[in-house]
Amino acid sequence: MSRARVIATIGPACDNDEMIQTMIEEGLDIARLNYSHGDFPSKKITYDRLRKFEEKTKKHIGILADLPGPKLRLGRFDGAIPLIEGETVNLCCGVEEGTDNGLPVPWGGLSKDLRDGDPILLADGLVRLEVLSSPQKEDQVVSCKIIDGGKITQRKGINVPGTLVNLPAVGPYDKKCLSHALELGVDFVAVSYVRTPEDLLPAREMIKEAGVHTWIIAKIEHPSALNHLEEIVALSDVIMVARGDLGVEIPLEQVPAAQERVILTCLQRGVPVIVATQMLESMVENPRPTRAEVSDVATAIRQGANAVMLSGETAGGNYPLESLKTMVKISNEVTKAISDLPPPPALAEFLSTRAIAQSAVQLAKEIEADHIIVATEHANAAKLVAAFRPNIPVTAMTNRIRACRRTSILPGINAIVVEQQNRSRDTIALATSKLWKEGHLSAGDKVVSISGSPEAITGQTSTIRVLDIGEDGRVDSLN
Ligand code: PEP
Repeated sequence: MSRARVIATIGPACDNDEMIQTMIEEGLDIARLNYSHGDFPSKKITYDRLRKFEEKTKKHIGILADLPGPKLRLGRFDGAIPLIEGETVNLCCGVEEGTDNGLPVPWGGLSKDLRDGDPILLADGLVRLEVLSSPQKEDQVVSCKIIDGGKITQRKGINVPGTLVNLPAVGPYDKKCLSHALELGVDFVAVSYVRTPEDLLPAREMIKEAGVHTWIIAKIEHPSALNHLEEIVALSDVIMVARGDLGVEIPLEQVPAAQERVILTCLQRGVPVIVATQMLESMVENPRPTRAEVSDVATAIRQGANAVMLSGETAGGNYPLESLKTMVKISNEVTKAISDLPPPPALAEFLSTRAIAQSAVQLAKEIEADHIIVATEHANAAKLVAAFRPNIPVTAMTNRIRACRRTSILPGINAIVVEQQNRSRDTIALATSKLWKEGHLSAGDKVVSISGSPEAITGQTSTIRVLDIGEDGRVDSLN
């Protein structure tokens, strides 16, 4: 079984040619572009850079656009502002920029939602404030007492636990970000602050209108999402346990149980799941992680996470490459020792493809096959095979580079592009010959393949074959 995938957020600490190339060579699977920071032209430069080194290193890289969502953030200002415990600070609602009278908060509506004594958390809970005096009708300046101090920089998140901020999940700015990301050609789009399944619909609609198959990641970071978890998982292509916000929206000590529940729900539905935030946080400052962080990453993988994510560690930390290498090392080591996870008992969609995927994995186990080949147009069939955790190498055979890139979230799936032939068996023969040449198959190997008809890749998945690889790499039994 191959290791859990590694996602790294791209930011100023690693966004240059040399680092991106090295990170890909060292095991980066998916690069996250965080649309909460930076502007569109710089996102394009980063996107193009990633694709340039994807081609150079000949490794498929997934690119994930993380939408800001209805998350409240501070506005823009220069430098780091120290907030001292016991002192007061103003939140200037409706102000985009500057610190003349306090901290800017672009969303003017915040002042209306606040009451005396409300707690406010900044930067994922690093700084805690308490509302001293809720503003008068027209006044948008909220005076707060600093309960836990710290240094704060621009665009940091603001949480008001217990308050359902009345903003759409995909607002006008998110729509601009999503159009930009789809135009670039990203492989995954993360919708932030999903509260109900309906929150996913605007993104789904825009992706459909664009005529692409970009996978949607629902970020679970609000208590309401936990209340609607099963429905949200059913409507998502991938799930992210976004522990940064989750850890301020629900009591911190409840986050581990929530993480476990989300992962289990995803395993039961065959939906890939990412665990994110503060995984190796101390590596922002130090070249080595703490034992507790290593244990945390290992726990997430053992629970069944498909991918683990780095945020500030690679985007802005002092040791981005060391953080990435550490994550890859932990993932490799833990995966070696992992015991079998439960297969998904129920999947409502793609019923016949699911049954064929499950049967192929079962058959491969029974005949002790060496390899599975899955023909897949948009990577959905590959996702289903991965969900049954085959524990042997799997190749996704597709005619679309974009499907290859989506398999970057599926541990153990290697993807290749082949030209689809008129007959299914000829396409499979092309794939086996490519795998033979690349050294992934040897004489005497047994391969289980699943494919569509009449065309192997674009046809409806219908056929399971068992192939014996001959001395010269040819497959005589192919019919
Ligand atoms: C999180 O909150 O854990 C997260 C991944 O989202 P963001 O970094 O956008 O706040």
